[in-house]
Amino acid sequence: MAKKKEKKKNKLDPELEMRERAMVEGILEGSPDGVGVVVIRLDCGCRKMAAVTKDGEPASKVIMYRDHAESVCDKCKDDQGAFIRVVTQFIHWQDPAPDPGQQKKISLKVLGTTETTTH
Ligand SMILES: [Zn+2]
Repeated sequence: MAKKKEKKKNKLDPELEMRERAMVEGILEGSPDGVGVVVIRLDCGCRKMAAVTKDGEPASKVIMYRDHAESVCDKCKDDQGAFIRVVTQFIHWQDPAPDPGQQKKISLKVLGTTETTTH
């Protein structure tokens, strides 16, 4: 009899990553001024995304979503994805990406850091 072995991976599911990428592309398409999309992953599994301009200003509405769900979780409905629950945040740059100096400027303005993750 075969043993059931279930390993939980810490890495992001490739399928989820693909969905995330598709969302990013969609946001960029709808944001002509956007040079990149801020992607914020929350500890509950929901995401927050918004396009930014080359000046680090918002280029789109903030979009919140949850994979395989019609709406975000109750926690997020409550706190709108509070900063304290952010697991990862980074900017997905449009192709061609702004030069590194500009990227730094934008992430500093938008994320408050030039680091790509908080934890
Ligand atoms: Zn949530």
